[in-house]
Amino acid sequence: MLTLNRRALLLGGGSLAGCTPGPGSTGVPALVPIRAQTDRIFDIAVCLRPFRAAGPRLDVERVGNTLVVHNYGHGGSGWSLSWGSSAVAVRKAMATHPREVAVIGCGVLGLTSAILAQRAGAKVTIYARELLPQTRSARATGAWTPDSRIALADVAAPEFPALWEEMARTAFKMHRDYLGLPGDPVEWTDFYSVSADDVPRTGSVPPTHALDFAEYHRRIADLVPKAHRLSPDTAPFRATAVYRSENMIFNISDYGHILLNDFLIAGGQIKHADFQAPSQIAALGRRAAINCTGYGARTLWKDETITPVRGQIARLVPQPAVHYGLAYRHVYVVPRRDGIVVQDVEGGDMKGFGNADETIDRAEADGAVTTLAELFSPARWRGAKELQTT
Ligand SMILES: Cc1cc2nc3c(=O)[nH]c(=O)nc-3n(C[C@H](O)[C@H](O)[C@H](O)COP(=O)(O)OP(=O)(O)OC[C@H]3O[C@@H](n4cnc5c(N)ncnc54)[C@H](O)[C@@H]3O)c2cc1C
Repeated sequence: MLTLNRRALLLGGGSLAGCTPGPGSTGVPALVPIRAQTDRIFDIAVCLRPFRAAGPRLDVERVGNTLVVHNYGHGGSGWSLSWGSSAVAVRKAMATHPREVAVIGCGVLGLTSAILAQRAGAKVTIYARELLPQTRSARATGAWTPDSRIALADVAAPEFPALWEEMARTAFKMHRDYLGLPGDPVEWTDFYSVSADDVPRTGSVPPTHALDFAEYHRRIADLVPKAHRLSPDTAPFRATAVYRSENMIFNISDYGHILLNDFLIAGGQIKHADFQAPSQIAALGRRAAINCTGYGARTLWKDETITPVRGQIARLVPQPAVHYGLAYRHVYVVPRRDGIVVQDVEGGDMKGFGNADETIDRAEADGAVTTLAELFSPARWRGAKELQTT
């Protein structure tokens, strides 16, 4: 009964309906099975997506003598859109021709803003309560999901879809620059969407789309490979339907390290700060500041348009030979080098909506891994053998 989730659909650039075996179904590689055992979970992390119904905040305001450019509220798309959104913010900040720029926040939006401001010629200091490894950014899944919980279709301004497309295309190009580097900060991996109509629904499934979340991925369908349905005799899993595509993923630990190092190597400074009010940012005395405080903007900027969307990931001990992601029933898997991410996505975009509880739920993590284990049981798994072409 999997309902292919949004991320899985995204891979196909839209709907998978009507897909037939195609060029992507040939030459299916032998897969190494994931060792889906609950005792192999070595990390569980919870994070809040900073969701804004209107989309991320990118406007400008003056606080004292400082021009503050906002760059927060990227929902479930912050890693994906980072470079594109930060390019927009830096363009606005540099319009004041500042010699020095303050960046508030050291998550993925803060670091990409800081690096781009350096490249634009500014001397940059990051002020933040936490550095990237301690931020919410470090607890993300790590997949190219540029329109995950990015806005509500009926609330976003009419010009937002075009801005989103500009940000997504810019970001996609910048992520490409990190392919093939030591540590594989960014890489392409195969992705299997496995639907199993033979599994009954639990009955406790909340509605998938109670709100009208914006879906813009068709605007950039040319960027990513299409999904292809595998014929039953070539599919690695026995299921109602198996689709294969490829997805760009972010190995968060390495990517984060590289971003921090790039910033420091270019002469960037980092200062610890815990701002209680915007006036403290003006007191830094910079002509321009870029506000990348993520969910923290809810308190600092008293922005109650930010809704928390709780999400949890579990990581299984890495298996370097596992180079494919999965969507199966309510489970989503990303084969990161720093741990195979297993996530329960039951409920789709509404899962965790309005929930600011960052307490770890061990039962949820165990449940997701146990469901994943079904795929590697004899009932579903066709074995690690070279599969024939169709
Ligand atoms: C479970 C989950 C999975 C996700 N998966 C993906 C994914 O696969 N792909 C994707 O693209 N996105 C994903 N996201 C979304 C992504 O993680 C966020 O959009 C992104 O991390 C937001 O980054 P940020 O830099 O704005 O905020 P943060 O990472 O929260 O950083 C905010 C920074 O501001 C600082 N700060 C805040 N308030 C203050 C203050 N008052 N004073 C000083 N400093 C302050 C913090 O210390 C921190 O340095 C996921 C999110 C969740 C919850």
